[in-house]
Amino acid sequence: MRWQAYHTPHSLDEALALLSDYAGAAQIVAGGTDLILDFQQGNHAPPQALVDVTTIRGLDQIIEEDGWIIVGAAVTHTVIEAHPLIRRYGAALAESCSVVGGPQVRNVATIGGNVAHALPAADGTIGLLALGAEVQVCTWNGIAVECTWQPLLSIFVGPGMNSLAPNQMIGAFRFPVQEPHTGSAFDRIMRPQGVALPILGVAAQVTLDAAGARAVAAAIAVGPGQADSISRAGKRSDPAGRAQLG
Ligand SMILES: Cc1cc2nc3c(=O)[nH]c(=O)nc-3n(C[C@H](O)[C@H](O)[C@H](O)COP(=O)(O)OP(=O)(O)OC[C@H]3O[C@@H](n4cnc5c(N)ncnc54)[C@H](O)[C@@H]3O)c2cc1C
Repeated sequence: MRWQAYHTPHSLDEALALLSDYAGAAQIVAGGTDLILDFQQGNHAPPQALVDVTTIRGLDQIIEEDGWIIVGAAVTHTVIEAHPLIRRYGAALAESCSVVGGPQVRNVATIGGNVAHALPAADGTIGLLALGAEVQVCTWNGIAVECTWQPLLSIFVGPGMNSLAPNQMIGAFRFPVQEPHTGSAFDRIMRPQGVALPILGVAAQVTLDAAGARAVAAAIAVGPGQADSISRAGKRSDPAGRAQLG
């Protein structure tokens, strides 16, 4: 069985009005690297229609605005990995996106899909969490689109589950431009074969005092990858842990 319609909207209004009209019978697709595999593996049946969000104007951009770095939901891991603003202010995100799959996957897979899929081991998500990122949730109210920023952790319900309704989608992510003396990084422990889920993914951001002598703030995001770790994480409400010190 395949979907019967494939839509390529050019605006958030168009995309969300379509999703709303289908009332749950349509699904968002971005790079398709998680979704199409789910259909192929029979994890769930394809919906009546797919709404491709990579054709929406502006959703593939990274900008700096009012002290925030804003990353569109349809930006690919390849673009994030190399982007000067991300490398300068969000190394943890650049590093986490640089290890997703192989080059073919990274060229089409998006940060929005990585977050929306809500796997505890999602590398890009872990990078964003350490940077204190917020998610922009866009909602169709029947007449127009309303977008609000909320903490990234707030959209996770459990492993593989997000809180988005059929008339909602992720528009973008944002994290603050880093304070002076601040740095971040990401790393993960993999099984030797390297293509299965990681054992653990970790990202951290640390701010030192002006003398560079002691840490005054630190944020750590940890994502479990092993099957038993995922099932343990499912008993908690968060797909990744984040701690704020200092
Ligand atoms: C071979 C292979 C290796 C992989 N390796 C890794 C890895 O090392 N690390 C890792 O983290 N992931 C990995 N993945 C998983 C996947 O590539 C990433 O999670 C990717 O970022 C998903 O993005 P996508 O654009 O392809 O999402 P899609 O498959 O298009 O969508 C995934 C889900 O998100 C929803 N969605 C997409 N965009 C939005 C939006 N804007 N708003 C709301 N919902 C949305 C879709 O409806 C769907 O439910 C791998 C996948 C493959 C096939």
